[in-house]
Amino acid sequence: MLGLRVGSTAPQLLTIFLISSTFGALAFLYSFFGIISNETTHRFDTFGSLTPQEIGGHFLFGYVVGLPTRNLKMAVLSGLMALTIDADHILNAAGFDIQGRMGHSVSFAVLSSVLMGFIATQFFRKKLVWKKIVIPTPTLAASSSRTVEKAVANTYNSLSPAEKLYIIFFQFLIITLAAYLSHIAYDVFVGAGANFPLLAPFNFSDVFIPQMYALPIEGVGILIVYLWYSVTARKKMISNQR
Ligand SMILES: [Zn+2]
Repeated sequence: MLGLRVGSTAPQLLTIFLISSTFGALAFLYSFFGIISNETTHRFDTFGSLTPQEIGGHFLFGYVVGLPTRNLKMAVLSGLMALTIDADHILNAAGFDIQGRMGHSVSFAVLSSVLMGFIATQFFRKKLVWKKIVIPTPTLAASSSRTVEKAVANTYNSLSPAEKLYIIFFQFLIITLAAYLSHIAYDVFVGAGANFPLLAPFNFSDVFIPQMYALPIEGVGILIVYLWYSVTARKKMISNQR
């Protein structure tokens, strides 16, 4: 039993890295849109800005918005996604004279959230081992882990394939959106370069966000995760009682 559990942990962690890397790759690809901008921002010293503080801060802010999932792995995932979004600086840092923060735009947040939701359904379509992640567990604190596991397994088995895909899709859409918000929140929080091309690629001029909005933005990230999970979990409980 123990062997089984250890065995199933490694691929899960690997999958977390895969998903966050996929998100980083999307941010990198999206940064190519920066080529069509006339406005060039100052060159980012990406590798110089990779301080432990910057990495730790982004991870922490991302981790915190993932906490309402009550799932450690989902929190780690949103922490890592909040980090990998900065892959949009790479082209600019490599010397290309283009808008260097395309991943910080609202259009990227919307597009990548839908894409990550879709990609996740492809990842998890057949992997029942992930049921613990894809199903919200509202009773986690109240009962023993074995009871929860059983309840979650029962809940998962009672879902139709369409319901499973629906939950996976929206769970990752929400997590991506929250990771994006947490990233912006930390950038604003430290106050360094709180200018974002929010409206890119429609308008490449930078929008400044004052520091006082940092924590409210982080709060919105926490709230959307919390709301989605509590609503979905409640719906599941009601349908289980029928
Ligand atoms: Zn950033």
